[in-house]
Amino acid sequence: MTAEIISGTQIRKEILAEIKEDVEKMKEKHGKVPGLVTILVGSNPASQSYVTLKIKTALSLGFHEIQDDQPEDISEEDLLALIEKYNNDDDIHGILVQLPLPDQIDDKKVLNAINPDKDVDAFHPVNVGRLMIGGDEAKFLPCTPAGIQEMIVRSGTETSGAEVVVVGRSNIVGKPIAVMMAQKGIGANATSTIVHTRTKDLAGHCKRADILIVAAGVPDLVKPEWIKPGATVIDVGVNRVGMNEETGKAILKGDVDFEAAKEIAGKITPVPGGVGPMTIAMLMKNTLKSAQWALGDI
Ligand code: NAP
Repeated sequence: MTAEIISGTQIRKEILAEIKEDVEKMKEKHGKVPGLVTILVGSNPASQSYVTLKIKTALSLGFHEIQDDQPEDISEEDLLALIEKYNNDDDIHGILVQLPLPDQIDDKKVLNAINPDKDVDAFHPVNVGRLMIGGDEAKFLPCTPAGIQEMIVRSGTETSGAEVVVVGRSNIVGKPIAVMMAQKGIGANATSTIVHTRTKDLAGHCKRADILIVAAGVPDLVKPEWIKPGATVIDVGVNRVGMNEETGKAILKGDVDFEAAKEIAGKITPVPGGVGPMTIAMLMKNTLKSAQWALGDI
């Protein structure tokens, strides 16, 4: 059996097209579009390329986008004042501060200063709490877990009553996706288990998963014999395992031995082209939602 490939690249395209349509409707109805500000401090090349990608995507959707670059030596006080300015700006519905921040600035203090109702990354403790409560309380879902859930749903995988095993317990992927899958609701109602480095029988847990979500950051950690035949496997891992000498680009591998796993799984995400492309799409979806809330449309 060869698994169906769940393409993040394809699903992202569909989501972005849906968002674009909603932005056009919003413009027609209210004469307004979602507003997103991206704050980049300093000139870290990796941060610059992430921010550029976010800006490009936002502009392609017709968002009002402000690129607010700040010098490396900005004080914490000035950065907090800048965030306060955007917290009070009615045309801005999403505030993104690109991490990491320079040493003189406390990342936590800055992220916690963002109005939770404009925190489209969903890292603010208020949004983490809202996610735990679930249902209508959850205003924004964190982007990578939201992308994972969207892929599971759009691939037609049954989640109700499913055994979900999540490898990894990080705050940005493992813990939130495990909670989201166990909530009441569509694309959820599953039984979640989180496994990590102290888990006694990692293979045993993985083997009983109807949906296996792997976010460990260890190339080829999950062996084909750990996969239940027909399971849906979501590989979140992005590991640089070398450099392609011809293109000069990094060679990426997931946390699952893809070639062997695809002969056993029912559905599987590739790396690259799986979960990776989904994160920015979900960020844009959160920004759209924030604007829809602000305008009273949802
Ligand atoms: P993280 O903070 O490093 O956490 C990794 C988790 O995996 C930890 O809970 C760790 O357990 C567990 N783990 C590591 N090795 C293990 C092993 N051998 N057996 C069992 N559990 C193990 O990672 P993260 O930030 O969640 O990221 C995980 C991976 O996803 C990385 O490759 C990252 O690049 C990728 N990622 C991709 C996206 C995207 O595509 N958009 C977004 C975020 C992350 P302990 O807690 O016991 O140490």
